[in-house]
Amino acid sequence: MEHQKHPLISPVPGTERHIDSFHFGPADAERHLYVQGALHADELPGMLVAWTLKQRLAELEALGQLACRVTLVPVANPIGLDQQLMDTPLGRYDFESLTNFNRRYASVADEIADGLDAALNDDIAHNRNVIRDRFEAALLAALAKTGPTTALESMRLTLQRLACRADFVLDLHCDFDAVEHLYTTPAAWPVFEPLARYFGSKASMLATDSGGQSFDECFTLVWEQLQQTFGARFPVDYGCQSVTLELRGQRDVDHDLAGRDAQAIIDWLRHLGLVAGEAPPLPELAYPATELAAMDFLHAPIGGLLVFHAAPGIEVEAGQLIAEIIDPLSDRVEPVHAPQAGMFYARSERRMATAGMIVADIAGHQSHRSGYLLAP
Ligand SMILES: [Zn+2]
Repeated sequence: MEHQKHPLISPVPGTERHIDSFHFGPADAERHLYVQGALHADELPGMLVAWTLKQRLAELEALGQLACRVTLVPVANPIGLDQQLMDTPLGRYDFESLTNFNRRYASVADEIADGLDAALNDDIAHNRNVIRDRFEAALLAALAKTGPTTALESMRLTLQRLACRADFVLDLHCDFDAVEHLYTTPAAWPVFEPLARYFGSKASMLATDSGGQSFDECFTLVWEQLQQTFGARFPVDYGCQSVTLELRGQRDVDHDLAGRDAQAIIDWLRHLGLVAGEAPPLPELAYPATELAAMDFLHAPIGGLLVFHAAPGIEVEAGQLIAEIIDPLSDRVEPVHAPQAGMFYARSERRMATAGMIVADIAGHQSHRSGYLLAP
């Protein structure tokens, strides 16, 4: 195992933060996996899974069973991790800029594409390497020259730089109160479908561009754009496939669950031939993949006490009662119904709803949304 420290811009004198990365397996391995935890810093199940993986990967490395390079970042967001307000951790939005830590990652597709046709040929592996070299160079240039200007920006670019050469990127998140689910692209679904099975994903939602320039998409969208620009003239595949794994809810920080999730990732690596040994048989997929455009956010029609009539992890019918919002002063009781049939996979942790807030998420089957598809 190799441990590297990557300094971030110091926001004020006397403070200094780093991204710590841990590297396993042969440095010259053909395939490369990147895993990070707690980019939303108040989503800690991923940090425990990353720490569990750290022990397991060290064992596999010592046994000579790792056939890939793995980069592991257990604490992806030291800035957000240090944000506490009145005994409450607040790690989803940056206090200074009020932006979501998992949005607005830099797109360097134009820099990579500039003059690229002169470097490409009819060898797909050569083209993949050329693009990865340019990808890394563009991010290093962004780190060194034109920016970053803030600690947050240096953190975003540092994480991108650590992951940009990976074949597979696993971004470990969780929801507020939820069952296992994931987000990836339609193009990456064949790669991650076995992982969804081992992980027990109850909802797997697919979109090529969900509109937020999130961490997972800042890699796949580059390859998507390069394929569109150069794919007719040169063989260009997806040099990076990424998935956001949602490890249930914020309170699901538990050794049994983390052990299961780390094992699911290792089983999937065995299935791909990246860890020696036979992979266990693939379990059934718990629920079919659906389009992210078919997912529904259920909103509170008024402010009031939020009382749920159902818990995540069940298939619901169109019109099924999910929750009630109660105004105890006016006696108004407003039901919140499922707008379509689907998998009810996540709900809010809050029990005093503010008017309009998201109270529940359902993976439906009828696509009806477009543009920005994510929560704020
Ligand atoms: Zn998250």
